[in-house]
Amino acid sequence: MLGGGLVISGASIMDRRYLQAWRCQCHSGVLRPTEAGECAANPKARLGYSRHSDPHMCASSQLPPAALYIHIPYCAAKCGYCDFYSVPIHNEPTNDMLAALQKELVHRVGTCGHRIRTVFIGGGTPTILATTQLGQLLTTLAEVLRDHEPIEFTVEANPETITAEKAHCLADAGVNRVSMGAQSFDAPELEVLERRHGAADVPQAVAALRRAGVGNINLDLIFGIPGQTLESWRSSLDHAIELGVDHLSCYGLTYEPGTELTAQRDRGLITPCHEGVEAEMFSLAIDHLAGAGFEQYEISNYAKPGRRCLHNLMYWRNEPYVGIGPSAAGCTGGRRYKNVADVGTYIRLMRSSGHAESESETIDRAKLVNEMILMQLRLSEGLSISVFRSRMGLDPLQVFEPALTRLVESRLLFVTEEHIALTRSGMLVANRVMTELACACESL
Ligand code: SF4
Repeated sequence: MLGGGLVISGASIMDRRYLQAWRCQCHSGVLRPTEAGECAANPKARLGYSRHSDPHMCASSQLPPAALYIHIPYCAAKCGYCDFYSVPIHNEPTNDMLAALQKELVHRVGTCGHRIRTVFIGGGTPTILATTQLGQLLTTLAEVLRDHEPIEFTVEANPETITAEKAHCLADAGVNRVSMGAQSFDAPELEVLERRHGAADVPQAVAALRRAGVGNINLDLIFGIPGQTLESWRSSLDHAIELGVDHLSCYGLTYEPGTELTAQRDRGLITPCHEGVEAEMFSLAIDHLAGAGFEQYEISNYAKPGRRCLHNLMYWRNEPYVGIGPSAAGCTGGRRYKNVADVGTYIRLMRSSGHAESESETIDRAKLVNEMILMQLRLSEGLSISVFRSRMGLDPLQVFEPALTRLVESRLLFVTEEHIALTRSGMLVANRVMTELACACESL
């Protein structure tokens, strides 16, 4: 969380942290998004994975569909604000890591029993791999998923790593969405973040991806950067809008323990953005992007119609996910695991024992309630009353009383026939609201 208590930053980054720590990700090109659990209209024709001709064959699995996340733990260098697990790629045993990762991929997908509905290759910077390595990984993935029907296949990228060759490699393998870390279009702000790309790299990368056939592109942007103003934030939003991308993730900057940025703040070398200004930036994003046709469907995420991130929606709706690679996490069958966050140990464990988990836990009833609050309340639609009833056998309107009444009266939450959701004011203090609701059902 930033500075002194504003929650948009903590909450917004929380989803990135969650999506990595216990994580996976998201969405498509020309495909129609569907609700979790439904089959898309013949998506396999585009992705080319399934051998089935019946578009409803995905109903054959008795288990609900799952998301698949693959973590590539390499970057060119560490950005000052980042605490995701990644290491500089120079002199790293990339081939050994990819061999271990593909071994885990074959095993986990082959034994999980779920149909894989969305795929997300994140990191790190997956596109920092050599084109041949990326191609090999994508070929293995296509083989592993040949009987699945993924409707969305996203790869994370940094702008400076997208060449025409790499863009074609992704498109040819069926990648139909790219999520790119633009962060800002202002040179001094990129410098504060210690990014390795310049603002001009972003339009070039977007153009290369479009030429190759990947039309569905997300840009990550950050607000609350030291030195950033409302004007420069609006300018970054305008640059992104002008590029015609379909999806924007707008995260508040957070000062994570152990990062270079936090050390700089603690030494007084940088001055964090005032939290009042940060709140204004959050509101500006909602209003400005709405004017450009983007709907805020989650605290930090905005999409053009039909372009919501299906992969992340799987997390936010507490659907199962399989995680592959160093530091990746998965949650299937009421059990959550996390792999070791160390490349060398990951390779060694995969070779010696065939798995590389460092921890696991059973998701009991109390944890599930907590997670439904934590994840579903992030969505603009909010927590589904009917899903809560069917999963928990309890009425959330009763379970959350009297906290619910208090939060509604404070205009931090609102209740419809189908959902309990955060108001805009509630999104600014989302962590507090979630904690209050969680405490209301501690005895479950
Ligand atoms: S490129 Fe992304 S994952 Fe890599 S260090 Fe920078 S912020 Fe972290």
